[in-house]
Amino acid sequence: MSATSPATNDELFARARAVIPGGVDSPVRAYGSVGGTPRFVTSASGAWITDAEGRRYIDLVASWGPALLGHAHPEVVSAVQEAAARGLSFGAPTSAEAELVEEIVARVPAVAKARLVSTGTEATMTAIRLARGATGRDLVVKFAGHYHGHSDGLLAAAGSGLATFALPGSAGVPSAIAAQTLVVPYNDPDALASVFAAHPGRIAAVITEAAAANMGVVAPASGFTSFVRDLTAREGALLISDEVLTGFRAAPGGYAQVLAESGEPVVPDLVTFGKVIGGGLPVAAVGGRADVMDLLAPTGPVYQAGTLSGNPVAVAAGLATLRLADDAAYARLAEASATLSAAVGRALDEASVPHVVQRAGTLFSVFFGSEVASGVPDYETALRQNAPAYGRFFHAMLDQGVSLPPSAFEAWFVTAAHDDEVIGRIVEALPAAARAAAG
Ligand SMILES: *Cc1c(COP(=O)(O)O)cnc(C)c1O
Repeated sequence: MSATSPATNDELFARARAVIPGGVDSPVRAYGSVGGTPRFVTSASGAWITDAEGRRYIDLVASWGPALLGHAHPEVVSAVQEAAARGLSFGAPTSAEAELVEEIVARVPAVAKARLVSTGTEATMTAIRLARGATGRDLVVKFAGHYHGHSDGLLAAAGSGLATFALPGSAGVPSAIAAQTLVVPYNDPDALASVFAAHPGRIAAVITEAAAANMGVVAPASGFTSFVRDLTAREGALLISDEVLTGFRAAPGGYAQVLAESGEPVVPDLVTFGKVIGGGLPVAAVGGRADVMDLLAPTGPVYQAGTLSGNPVAVAAGLATLRLADDAAYARLAEASATLSAAVGRALDEASVPHVVQRAGTLFSVFFGSEVASGVPDYETALRQNAPAYGRFFHAMLDQGVSLPPSAFEAWFVTAAHDDEVIGRIVEALPAAARAAAG
């Protein structure tokens, strides 16, 4: 390849595949389930991304959530530039770390203290270790189809990434570690009660996505999260609410706020955050009850550390993002999400494509297929969706300049930069895509 002529996406993908497994640093980016060549992004601004061939697309991936305000928001970019100019990393505390945690504490009643880490994977891994340290128990319960990052113990039946490639779990996880995780169907109180009955006094924690959004969007059934809260409290196990995806996106206070507003206030013991909290740079957090959080080193016996934890440039991006994420931004997100999800439903109805649109706060996703059209409460049902129909819909949208998540198992992410004009353009592209989905 000549260094001067601009490369095509195909050329860039071939070059990447020669040196990076699958050509990507995170599997879903490879377009494995929808086919075709991933777009190599050269820049992004607001609701738009530009690829290596100079083509612009309206983006509905939003970096899988972090770009809450839209890409490269000018005030976030200048906060990052100012922080970078003061130094990239110190390995010493900075005042902005406490400021960011104060923002979380102010928005999420369950969080009295939090520690910053770099990825959602680290946050959930640390939450599990804390729960084990706090209870002296080993077993962890997770729900099928919920994704909590790629640590060994949490990869069983872990939703989108694995479902996209039809893997039940990952190779390379020792059976002794897998045996510490018990997987139960989501939204099934009896299954959860049975697992506690079968392992009395041995379960350290139940970890749940606050609203599942990594098998498509599947909100907890009314009363289900309170049931999990009451049962874990009665059994002496901790409840870990994973808000890495929903936090500061589903609502200003995360999905906990959506639940509270629907008359179901649930206070988990630990909560994990990621994605939006870094505004596009690597920041995540584990937070919760002060007594449990103080079990972390250096105050307590549960070890956890990170060379780049609380990195000043990343924290500046997160802090600027959360401070700019005001009522007006959430109102815009809610409006964009409601308008778009309704329009998708209409277009699919008009083309007679069986489907269901599911919501959780400002999050939504669309399941295609007659076997799911009456609603998706759990992973078993999500797996029955018509993924090829989604693939056709995806490519018809892409051809018209709209970049959807390249997997049927993902939420569609709008941002506060998706204004009426942008949403209008997406809506115009829907009928042709719906006809493509119809086949
Ligand atoms: C994305 C995600 C994670 C993992 O976060 P990473 O930063 O990708 O490690 C964990 N839990 C949920 C609910 C997520 O959506």
